[in-house]
Amino acid sequence: MSEKKTSTPETTEKKAYVKPSGNPGSFRAIAIVLWVLAIACEVVGILFILQVIVVGNSLPFVIGALILDLILVVVGSFLWKRANKIDPPSEKNKAEFFIKTQLGAIIAVIAFFPILIFLLTDKNMDKKTKTWVSILAGVCLLLAVGLSIDYNPVSSEDLEQMVINSESSDFGEGIVKWSKNSKVYHTWSDCSALNRIQDDNLREGSVKEAFEASKVRMCRFCAGHFDITDGVEGADSADDSDEPADDEEEDDGEEEA
Ligand SMILES: [Zn+2]
Repeated sequence: MSEKKTSTPETTEKKAYVKPSGNPGSFRAIAIVLWVLAIACEVVGILFILQVIVVGNSLPFVIGALILDLILVVVGSFLWKRANKIDPPSEKNKAEFFIKTQLGAIIAVIAFFPILIFLLTDKNMDKKTKTWVSILAGVCLLLAVGLSIDYNPVSSEDLEQMVINSESSDFGEGIVKWSKNSKVYHTWSDCSALNRIQDDNLREGSVKEAFEASKVRMCRFCAGHFDITDGVEGADSADDSDEPADDEEEDDGEEEA
């Protein structure tokens, strides 16, 4: 029995809830510029290593190139991931979805792996210098990849499902609640998992805002209440336990949904 509360004004004005959150096209364009500059830094670093650019002591230049390379890659990846939250790619084509969501990590490899190889095979530096600059480059590679991976990639299909699932929300059409510490969103005001969330952690907003905060799965209690089966927390796994993996404090005020 899903009672639908008188949802706020006209249902056609669903988009009115969506706060402007930046232009994904600009974010992507800036990301690409930063990545090109990052790879340029790498090339300059390699030219110093090969002594194509000759200076008294090339070491500070190689280190500088590595650090600048790292900063440019990571900032670019941050913007790229942000753009994907605002304008998510479709996951109909799995390969394309992977490339679009993980492009930052791919660029990170391109921006550090070649220079690392040049460092490891270098014949000009003394052994000690070569070792620790190579370690630095290796650490930069790991950091760049680690910080560029999109650990929680989301698709346009996720967003479409969220819009459908939140039509019957108790909080108004397209309005959902979530905890900043969980991965799910809620639409049922009596949900036991929702009511256990501490006020400090509780957020309310449009589907789009929840999506941008990576809360793309519906809480299973809320889904059960509204008879929703798609885009639900844990729906992919065979796990059928009653334990809501929602907030950090799971023990107090337990009350079955
Ligand atoms: Zn819920």
